[in-house]
Order: sequence, then structure tokens, then C-alpha cells
Amino acid sequence: MATCLVTGGAGFLGSHLCDELLGRGHRVICVDNLETGSLRNIAHIRRPEFTHLNLDITAPYFVDEPVDFVFHLASPASPIDYLRLPLHTLKVGSYGTHHTLGLAKLHRARFLTASTSEVYGDPQVHPQPESYWGHVNPIGPRGVYDEAKRYAEALTMAYHRQQGVDTAIVRIFNTYGPRMRPHDGRAIPTFLRQALQNRPITVFGDGSQTRSFCFVSDLIRGIIALSESGYHQPVNIGNPDEYTLLQLAQAVIEVTNSSSEIVYEALPTDDPQVRQPDTTLAQQILGWSPEVTLLDGLRRTIDEAGIDTLVGNGLR
Ligand code: NAD
Repeated sequence: MATCLVTGGAGFLGSHLCDELLGRGHRVICVDNLETGSLRNIAHIRRPEFTHLNLDITAPYFVDEPVDFVFHLASPASPIDYLRLPLHTLKVGSYGTHHTLGLAKLHRARFLTASTSEVYGDPQVHPQPESYWGHVNPIGPRGVYDEAKRYAEALTMAYHRQQGVDTAIVRIFNTYGPRMRPHDGRAIPTFLRQALQNRPITVFGDGSQTRSFCFVSDLIRGIIALSESGYHQPVNIGNPDEYTLLQLAQAVIEVTNSSSEIVYEALPTDDPQVRQPDTTLAQQILGWSPEVTLLDGLRRTIDEAGIDTLVGNGLR
């Protein structure tokens, strides 16, 4: 049994990671100040191998027991959150990553940081391989997230090269599934909420911009495979099947059997036009590729989350 520390463990992805690590027989210490996460995501976990520490990682923090793996997922992730919390987002990416890397160094633990496809910005290369350095606007409103993640990657490589910490970087592409918040502003929970209420589905721009959507179980499998590898360079994990936002809206209407119409709204600033991972490296070094199709993943999200939760009944 290994001891795994998961920052952001009460968030959408972090809570699924905690579930999977516990399912594999590990001890899990979840560090989360509930800034964008929720106790609801971990309320079902009632086992002695699980501990939640309500700590803000932008301040130094310590764990008084041996730790083997550190999964660093804490950070506002949805545009609605990081636009509301710009300074916090920069602090989590900088101070929070410093403190968490320092903890991994102290415990001689393997450290994995959750980076993002946003490090590629509005990409000029398509699909995006890990070797592409990106096209990010540092001073636009989204810069707080994109640059925090780029800084966290630089810091991770510096701790690896100079301090000898065993590190890994996963570049996560859009991931969806149960426990996404219905009002977090991202396309899938928004479209599902609107379709399940037969309300108009709001597509930004003309809906021709593309995204690739990975179901959460595929992503978690990829993260764990990377943590168990000895690999230190960034690895893309995402589903390479690419859809326009309009196609996504149509898929959501199909699986929900909704009578919603599609309406169009202004495109947000610096919204990327295309987004598709090149997953060749993940296949080569981890033997990983996604298994869940978009239609199956949408159906599983509805079944596992339940309609009440997806439309936001009783939730913020
Ligand atoms: P989330 O907002 O659901 O989870 C983030 C968690 O971090 C929350 O539980 C929040 O309370 C916690 N947190 C934030 N600031 C903290 C602090 N100072 N101290 C302690 N805890 C803090 O987001 P998510 O979608 O689960 O994303 C998890 C990670 O994956 C993030 O690092 C995000 O950037 C990355 N990521 C996610 C996606 C995606 O599609 N969901 C895509 C790319 C990258």
C-alpha cells in the first residue's frame, strides 16, 4: 500500500482520482481548502485509509507521515473560477506548486502536476504534440491560468533538474463526467443542464471552434499510468476525437432526447479555435489510449450524476 497525497482532492478530477487510488488499495491524503471543490465530492468516502485536510496550499504546509506519491491537482480550472479568482490562480500555480514540490522533495515522493492543454494557448499547430511550445497571450484575462500552469511546469522541471525530485507533468485536455458543477461554465455541464430542462443551448460564436472531450475514467487511468512510469517530460492525456461545439450540442440533444433549440452567443476573449491532443507519446510510453466514446460518456455522466444534480437542483 502506497500513501498518496492529492491536492485538489475534493474537486471534480481530484475526487475521482481519490476513489481510484483507494480502490487500488492505497492510503489517500486529500488536501483541499474547498475553494472550488466540495465536500459533496468526497462525502461517500468513509474509510480509515482516507483523510481530508482543509488546507490552503498557497501557505507552507506539512504532512506528518511518509508519502510515496504526490498528485498536484489544486487550482481553479474552469474559466468562470479563474476569471473570478485571478490572483489566487497565479498563487496556486506558483506558491502552491512550490510548497507541494517542497513536500514531495522532503518525502522523496514521486510528484505529478496537473497541467493543461491551455499551455498551448490558441495553437498554431494542430493536433498539439508535447514538443509544441504554444501561443499564449500572457496579458489577456485567461493569462492568469495559462501562465500559472506554464510557470508550474517550469518549476517542476527545475525541481527535477536541480533538486533531483522525481517529477511528472500531465497536460490534461478537456475532461468531463459526473461531479462537474452544473454552473461551472464549461460546455458539457452547461449543455447538459440546458438540454435536460429543454431550454435553449447557448453555443459561443458560430460553434465551429473545436474541442476534444475525454471521459473522466480514461483520464484517471492515464494519470495513474504516468505516475507509475519513470517519465519526466510532459505527456498529453485527452481524447483525440475532435468535435465542433455545434456537433457537441447536437450530441447532447441526442442523448437527452431534448427539444432544446441551439442559440448563439458572443465568443469569449482568447477562446481557442481548435483543440486536439496528439496522444502518440501517451500510447508509446504508457500504452494508454482513451476507450469511452463521446456518446457513451455523455450517457454515463447522466446515469451516474443523475438528472437532479445535472440541472443544479439544490446545488449552487
Ligand atoms: P476543480 O475546480 O473541480 O478542482 C480543483 C480543486 O482544487 C478544488 O477542489 C479546489 O477547492 C482546490 N483548490 C483550489 N485552490 C486551492 C488551494 N489554494 N489550496 C487547496 N486546494 C485548492 O477542477 P478540476 O476540473 O477537477 O481540475 C483539477 C486540475 O486539473 C486543475 O489543476 C486543472 O487545472 C487541471 N485540468 C482540468 C481540466 C478539466 O477538463 N477538468 C483540464 C485541464 C487541466
